[in-house]
Formats: sequence, C-alpha cells, structure tokens
Amino acid sequence: MADAPPGELVRVAVDAPQHSGLSGPLDYASEQALTSGTLVRVPLGKRELLGVVWPGLAAPAPGLALKPVAAVFDALPPLGADWCRLLDFAAGYYQRSVGELASAVLPPQLRELSPGQLAARLRKLARKPAPAPAAEPARPALAPEQAAAVARIEAQVGGGGGRPLLLFGVTGSGKTEVYLRAAEAALAAGRQVLVLVPEINLTPQLEARFTERFAALLPQPLAIVSLHSALTPAQRLQNWLAAHLGHARLVLGTRLAVFASLPALGLIVVDEEHDPSYKQQDGARYSARDLAVWRAHDLKVPVVLGSATPSLESWQHAESGRYERLTLASRIGGGALPKVRLFDMKALPAAPGVTTALTAPLLAALRERLDRGEQSLVFLNRRGYAPVLHCGECQWKSDCPHCSAWRVFHKRDRTLRCHHCGFTERVPRACPNCGNHDIAPIGRGTERLEEQLAEALPGARVLRIDADSTRRKGELEAQLQAVHDGEVDILVGTQMVTKGHDFRRIRFVAAVNPDGALFSSDFRAPERLFALLMQAGGRAGRDAAGEGGSEMWVQTWHRDHALYQALARHDYERFAADQLAERRSAGLPPFSHLALLRAEARTAEAAKAFLDAAAALLQDAQVLVYPPVPHAVARVADVERMQMLVEAGQRARLQAFLRAWVPALIALKRERPEFRAVLRWAVDVDPLAI
Ligand code: ADP
Ligand code: ZN
Ligand code: ZN
Repeated sequence: MADAPPGELVRVAVDAPQHSGLSGPLDYASEQALTSGTLVRVPLGKRELLGVVWPGLAAPAPGLALKPVAAVFDALPPLGADWCRLLDFAAGYYQRSVGELASAVLPPQLRELSPGQLAARLRKLARKPAPAPAAEPARPALAPEQAAAVARIEAQVGGGGGRPLLLFGVTGSGKTEVYLRAAEAALAAGRQVLVLVPEINLTPQLEARFTERFAALLPQPLAIVSLHSALTPAQRLQNWLAAHLGHARLVLGTRLAVFASLPALGLIVVDEEHDPSYKQQDGARYSARDLAVWRAHDLKVPVVLGSATPSLESWQHAESGRYERLTLASRIGGGALPKVRLFDMKALPAAPGVTTALTAPLLAALRERLDRGEQSLVFLNRRGYAPVLHCGECQWKSDCPHCSAWRVFHKRDRTLRCHHCGFTERVPRACPNCGNHDIAPIGRGTERLEEQLAEALPGARVLRIDADSTRRKGELEAQLQAVHDGEVDILVGTQMVTKGHDFRRIRFVAAVNPDGALFSSDFRAPERLFALLMQAGGRAGRDAAGEGGSEMWVQTWHRDHALYQALARHDYERFAADQLAERRSAGLPPFSHLALLRAEARTAEAAKAFLDAAAALLQDAQVLVYPPVPHAVARVADVERMQMLVEAGQRARLQAFLRAWVPALIALKRERPEFRAVLRWAVDVDPLAI
C-alpha cells in the first residue's frame, strides 16, 4: 500500500497536539476517493492514529510526498457534515485543533479497533434482541403552565427551530414532564432527541423515567441509550454506534454527549443548565450547554435549557429577548416551597462554642422533625472530618508538602489527605514538629458533622453521602435507596445530595455554614451559592402530603445580605437582577467576555515570565490583558500555577484576538528556550472559575 500511486488527496482530522504547531487537518494520499466524515487510520510520526476524513480540499505543499491512509473503516457510515461543522466550530471557539477534539470526543475504543473488528461490532449490534414488551405508560394531564411550555416547544419542533427556550421552573414544578412531552413530539416527527444532565449520578434516574415513558413507543433494541464516562468502553462504543446509526432515538448523557453523532437530531434538552459541570475543566475546555445552543441553531431544531436558577448568562439572554422564557411558577400538586429561616448566628449568646455548626436551636429543630418521624437533610459543602489538624504547642498545621493547601483529616480511615494532589498519609500520633500529643482538628467536614449529629441525637439514623461515602460502585445507589425507603432520619451530605434527587420524605433542610462563598474572590461564587441553596431547599417538601410545613434552615452571620434576603423569598428573579446590575457596573460577564491563559511551571517565576511574554506578543485596543496572578491554589503537586485574564467587550473581538494570539503562543513556547521550564499552558475560553 505504501507505494500505491496517490490517486486521491484527502484531509484528515487527526490528533496532532496543537502545541506541536500542526493545527488543521493534515493531508494524506488515498487509493480511493473518501467521503468526508469517513473514519480512517493514518500514520503520524511513528504512530498510527484514528482520524476523520475532513470536508474541504487538500492543498499539500508541492513536491511533498504524502503518506497514504493506512486503513478505512468502510463498514461504518461516515459522520455527518453537521457533526464536522460542530467540531470545526468548537475547535475554533475553544482554540484547540479539530483533530485533538475529534479524538477526545469519539468513543475511546474506536482507537483500538481495526476496521474488521469494528465491522464485527456492527454485526453484533444488528443482532441485539429487542427488550421485553412494555406496558403503555400513564401520562399525567399537564398543568396549564406545562401545557403552554410544551406548546411552544412543539411549535419549534414542527417549525424548524427558533430562539433557544429557557424553561424557568422552580424545583418540583414539573420540568421533566415538559421534557418528556417535548421528546414525544420530536420522536413522533421521526427525529432523535438528546437530553443532557450535569451528573453521571443522575443519569440512571433520568433513564428510568424516560424508559418508563417511551419503552412501549420505542420497542426496538437500543432505542434509548445513555452516554457518559462511567460506561465501560464497550458499552460506550455500542451506545455511540446506536446513536450514529439512528437506532437510538433517545440519547441521555452528560456533557460529552453533546458531541454524539445524531443524524436525525430534532430536539436538545439541557437539564439544570446552570450547572458548572457542563464546562469541561481540562483539554478542550468546552461548555456543553453553549455548544448545545450552537448545535441546535445550526440544525434549526429547538433547544430547551431548564433550571430553577438559570445561569446569569442565560437569564440575561432571556431578559434581552435573545432566548424565549417559559415559566413554571408553581410546584405540581401545590407542594409549597419550604419556608426559609435565616438563623442569625449573632443572636446566639456569646459563649464558647458559638461558632459550632450544630447550634442548640438547630438541634432542637432536628429533634422535633425526628419525633414526628420526618426526614431531614443537613448540608455542608466540605467533606472529610476536619479541613486541618493543628498543634496548639507549636502551631503546626497539616499542610500538604506538595501544594499550597491543607491536608484534610479523614477520621474514618485515619488519614491526612490532600484534596488537590491526592497525597495521603496516616494521621500522626503526635505533632510531627514538636512531638506534642495533643493535636486537634479545626473546623468541620461532613464526617465530623455526621459524628456530632449521631452523638447529639441518640437513636437517630444518620447517613452521610459524599464523594468519600460513595467511592465504590453501587454505594451511592444503595444509599439513595435507603433514603427513599425511609431507613434514614438525617441525611448529611455535600452538594452531591442537593442535585436533582427526588426525595419525597425530606421536610427539613439545613445549611449549617454557607457564608464562605459570600466573600469569595470569584465573582461567580454568589451565583453558585444561590443555586446550591435553592436546590438544597428544593429537596424539601416535594410531597405536599406531609403536614406541618417544610423548612429550610440557613445559619449565617450575614442575615441581611441581599443574597439571603432573596433566598428567603425564593426570589431568583430579584437575585438575578441584583447580580446582573453588579456585573454590568463592574464590566463582568455576561456584559464582557473573558478568557484565561494558564501556565504551569516548577517555579512561579517561570510561569509568570511566560505569561508576561505572552502579554507582550499582541496588542489590541479593545482587548484588555490583565497582569498574571497566582491561581487560587497556587501550587499543586509541586507545580506552580499562574493565570492571566483576557477581557473584551465583544465576543467576536475576543475570538479574533485569540485566533491571532494562540499560534503566537505556540511559537513562543517552542522557540524560546527559557520557556522550556513551562510544563503546560492552556487557554480557557469563557472560564467558569476565576
Ligand atoms: P422538576 O423537574 O421541575 O423538579 P419534576 O418534573 O420532577 O419537577 O416533577 C415533580 C413531580 O411532579 C414528579 O414526581 C412528577 O412525576 C410530577 N408531575 C409532573 N407533572 C405532573 C402533572 N402534570 N401531573 C401530575 N404530576 C406531575
Ligand atoms: Zn507541635
Ligand atoms: Zn497536595
């Protein structure tokens, strides 16, 4: 094959890292003409890589002998032109090479299979038996607001898309039912439906709900599939193929599913659209929510963004009329939102122990619920037993030797664990500095809260759910089931428990120490806190049946803060208006557009020198480049992290700047020997955490 005459020239998107300077698709020779979108294997350097034949004409430098395509996956229909457009857009927007992005979002197993092996997988897929016949589902009659929302979505399903739809509905207002009806309309029109959720943990629950509704309508094998990173490689390939071949009519997934190949896509739903996990935090740092909006616009199909607390970006679009807002103002079945009680920590008598999270009034409130046989949730966004160990003699603290952070004390397994680099050691018996035996934990995480609750409320069944309690497969499911089954009185957890779970029995939710985010240097911290508390509160009283009223208890030293005042009235709109006014006057997103250039090196000086040189590369009067600053956790695993903010009033202006800047950065890093000290650098467009 190597010496075959180069009959045809093709462009192939292949994972040549952008930092190598090879950014676009590469040219190859091929014996046969290849349709764009065809999967191939091509040689690159010493390796052979998966690639995608890319639209557009190859234009090799004259006299250059092109390498031939090594293998063609001809049993697989080519990826669609729309898929290639999406990848081109995303690669350009997030400043990555299209080949790198394609390789990152295609199922990993494709890289390992030969064309023959893939053909075998396809034959296996075709033999997949149909699931057992399902009963016709019961569909509830829609509430008037739901019906109005569904009608607007249906109009777009039939009418070739339109403005993005922001479904603004309080928790328990029946947003999921709206998604189900919208999906039904798109399926009836012969289209595929893509539903995105923020958390892998939420996919089984959502899958169950969609399967229950559509199993009878979609009796074919693999008609409903999920796509997320917790699937086995074989499952992920199977489900991806089912979507690509059009067998899967309904695809439920996490952010990576936004890149699924869906030849008949007719509707995209993004549930909890405000959730930060839609933004990929490494590699190509894309926002699946934003790409969903782009993809829907490109395909002229509707996109529904649902939330009780929309991102301020989406809310501003609804305010300005770029998005159409669909509002569900009341809970289904008349379940009232919990009464919010802002508990003023300053009102406690000044005595030692006042700063304790478990205040006497909170314990009394929990005891009262306990006596009534009701469930409660106590929320604290910090896992472990205590964030730091401390020696009162010499002031030693359990810092991480590799990071600018404390190591967290985990009592259950007697470890000090760094949550940034993972460095773990047994808890020392005595202070490693002075030998004092009296080292004590400071502060409190969920583990300690769990212990203190069990102590203070003897007989109560206390269960903790966080990243530590759910490490092993199946643990989370089992723990959630115990909550649903009423085997738990008090649930203690991090934000993990606040998301989406439809707990029917919880009547009381307490946030014991949420103030930290009010004074964060990250301008998005209040927005996240508000969403988190609304969502946590939303776990309470979802069932109107219980009596006595549900309550959300917020312990704060800043009771009069506008955020808490809006929370007390469940007034997202007021909160959003306040925040947007602040953002507008400070020139922050959504009223400006940001990118971050991050650099990592063994020394802060080396990282800073690179950023300084980067800033000097390009001037644009409309683009502001701020001085480099250390990352909030400056050192992780012995690597110093610096970052530099780039800001522009117009998105297009920022994009134009980045298009010119990034190639110059690649050259800077490659050509200047002093920047060999820079281990990594990356551009983050529309960064979430600053
Ligand atoms: P959200 O997604 O807005 O939090 P859900 O869609 O989970 O709300 O709805 C809350 C509960 O109300 C669910 O148990 C759901 O089955 C039920 N529900 C939704 N719509 C209706 C309806 N029109 N009639 C009866 N029950 C409904
Ligand atoms: Zn000491
Ligand atoms: Zn560390």
